[in-house]
Amino acid sequence: MSGKLTFTMIKPDAVANGNTGKIIDHIIGKGFKMVAMKYTRLSAEKAGEFYAVHRERPFFKDLVDFMISGPIVAAVLEKDNAVSDFRDVIGATDPSKAEAGTIRNLYAKSIDANAIHGSDSDENAAIEASFFFNAFERF
Ligand code: ATP
Ligand code: MG
Repeated sequence: MSGKLTFTMIKPDAVANGNTGKIIDHIIGKGFKMVAMKYTRLSAEKAGEFYAVHRERPFFKDLVDFMISGPIVAAVLEKDNAVSDFRDVIGATDPSKAEAGTIRNLYAKSIDANAIHGSDSDENAAIEASFFFNAFERF
């Protein structure tokens, strides 16, 4: 059965552009409850660890540089079928391919600066949440 929790980050572009409030409102409007939230900034080491799966990809350095370019908002979200439903809410990785009304369609400018992160599995949601919040070490 699918889990009830997922992890998100509002990325540096969206925070810098003043879209944090609108994005949080959008997420809540889609039926997610915010059960943890933190305004913070990633170190290069932490960003590299977060995206370790992409370490060998050509865009890895740009991805890490972008993720440390400014503050982010990390959050844990609760809803039935959270991971998959939240991926639908954020839209495709490349905003030019994101469906109308999705967060990336509304607030992202490019595949690099794409406004928001959403976990891609229950397992990764747990790993990512525990990265930022002690309370989620064993969810
Ligand atoms: P995220 O993990 O950030 O939620 P995602 O799951 O939609 O995004 P991933 O495949 O996990 O996409 O890629 C992680 C991030 O790496 C993307 O958000 C994007 O910024 C960057 N990225 C992915 N593919 C490319 C690419 N082909 N060119 C440039 N950047 C890319
Ligand atoms: Mg991903």
